Amino acid sequence: MNIILLGAPGAGKGTQASKIANKYKLLHISTGDIFRANIKNGTEIGKLAKSYTDSGKLVPDEVTCEIVKDRLTWDDAQHGYMLDGFPRNIYQAQQLDKFAKVDVCLNIDVDESLLMDRICGRRVCACGESYHVSTLNGATTCAKCGGKLYQRPDDVPETVKTRLDTYKSQTAPLIDYYKAQGKLVSVKSGEGSPDLVFEQICKIFDKYDK
Ligand code: AMP
Repeated sequence: MNIILLGAPGAGKGTQASKIANKYKLLHISTGDIFRANIKNGTEIGKLAKSYTDSGKLVPDEVTCEIVKDRLTWDDAQHGYMLDGFPRNIYQAQQLDKFAKVDVCLNIDVDESLLMDRICGRRVCACGESYHVSTLNGATTCAKCGGKLYQRPDDVPETVKTRLDTYKSQTAPLIDYYKAQGKLVSVKSGEGSPDLVFEQICKIFDKYDK
C-alpha cells in the first residue's frame, strides 16, 4: 500500500504518520524531515533548502521531486510507503504520477482556527515526538526519551502565516486533484484525541490493507 498524507501544517500529520507507519509497516518518507536532516548535516541540499524552510516557502520543485524520486528507488521503499509533506502542489503531484503508483491519499482535515495555536505551541524532540506547551506543565525534556525539547525555527508566527498561506494556495488544491482520481479519503481532526483520529484512519486503511 502506497499512501499520501495530506493536511495543513499543524493538522497532526507527523503524529498520525508514525502510528500509521507502525501499524501498516510502511516506510515513512517526510520531505520536511529530509530537508531538516540535510540542513543539520550542512549538505548542499541543506544549504539550498534552508532559506526556503526558514521563511516557510516551498523548496523548488525540481530539487524536491528529484529527492523523492530517488528515495522511492531504495530497497526499503519497495514494500509500501507513506509520503508525508509531498506532494505540496499540483506540479509535484503530476511528477509523482510519472514515477510512482499511489493507492490512496489521506486528507487530515482541521479547522483553520486551530492551526496557528497548534503550530506555535508545538515543541519537538529529535526522536520525533511532539508536544503542545499547554500539556507540558513546564517540562523541557521528552517524556519518551529524555531528549531536550525545542521549537522548530519555522514554528514562529510570521513563518507559520506564510506556511498556512502556501498551504491554502498551493497544497489544498490537491484535495480535488486526488478526489478526481478517486483516491481521496478524509478524516476530521481537532476535537478528538490523536488516538481517536487514528481509530478513524484504521477503519479506512484496514479496507485497503488486504
Ligand atoms: P514540513 O515538515 O512538512 O512542515 O516541511 C517543512 C518545510 O520543508 C516546508 O515549509 C518547506 O519549506 C519544506 N518542504 C517540505 N516538503 C516540501 C515539498 N514537498 N516541497 C517543497 N518544500 C517542502
